[in-house]
Amino acid sequence: MNIRIIFCAGVMALTLGASSQALAQPKLRIVTSTTDLDNIAQAVGGDRVSAIHISEGYQDPHFVEAKPSFILKLRNADVFAFVGLDLEIGWMSLLIDGARNPKIRQGGSGYLDVSRVVRVIDVARGNVDRSQGDVHPQGNPHYWLDPENGRRIARLFRDKFSELDPAGASTYAANARAFEARLNAAENQWKPQLAKLKGKPVVAWHTSWRYLAQYTGINIVGFMEPKPGVPPSPSHLAGLIQTMRRTGVKVIVMEPFYDRKTADFVAARTSAKVLILPPSVGAIKGVTDYISLMQYDIRQLADAL
Ligand SMILES: [Zn+2]
Repeated sequence: MNIRIIFCAGVMALTLGASSQALAQPKLRIVTSTTDLDNIAQAVGGDRVSAIHISEGYQDPHFVEAKPSFILKLRNADVFAFVGLDLEIGWMSLLIDGARNPKIRQGGSGYLDVSRVVRVIDVARGNVDRSQGDVHPQGNPHYWLDPENGRRIARLFRDKFSELDPAGASTYAANARAFEARLNAAENQWKPQLAKLKGKPVVAWHTSWRYLAQYTGINIVGFMEPKPGVPPSPSHLAGLIQTMRRTGVKVIVMEPFYDRKTADFVAARTSAKVLILPPSVGAIKGVTDYISLMQYDIRQLADAL
């Protein structure tokens, strides 16, 4: 009797399981290293994908704690998309090794190094000595802060998702086109602000703002860090203050996670003010998607300069 009940329950569970599977479209499971990639992946993937990210927008993306919980998420992922250029060097191999998922290992169908489709700047000629602390030895990895690279990221996701889920190819193509149309429309709105920014001298904490500077035409005359990832030294700051006085810098741009006191110290000795800008989606309240991130930063700069 008991065996019969268990058997019946088992058959029912199997039947229900099979029918719900047939009804529900299995989603592509995407894990991205950053919120920006996550947001563009969702814009392109729509309902056909589920996307999660590892680092939060308010964290320094160079120094993210590799939480073991992410190993489980990577174990079931169809795609792992990352910025590359050593941005994730501190934690990526640990999590990928732990996940034991051949799809997302180098050479696997879901291993997606996004840097291979973008325009990378600050690529060093010759050997870069890592012992000096430069965290950008492969070139500048903060490329998402240029809308052209945003478009290229969307197209890469469109192609990868279509390869892994051919039935969704037309959806991914339409979503990528819609994303580009929204971005193009936003860029048209930014034109007056961009015209205002052209040639304005600023100082930035990290070279992360080089892409936005290139796009907006602002002129970064110096960095708070003597090298990317190396904290400011008193002698470096003394030279920087001279440069700022000479060039009339009005703004020091920095991410929320750097040392505000040091920037205030420099601002107090020049005519500059400190402008904290979100470098990624989710870094501050209200910056919830890629286009609003770009818009927020451009407007803040235009208001301050
Ligand atoms: Zn960096």
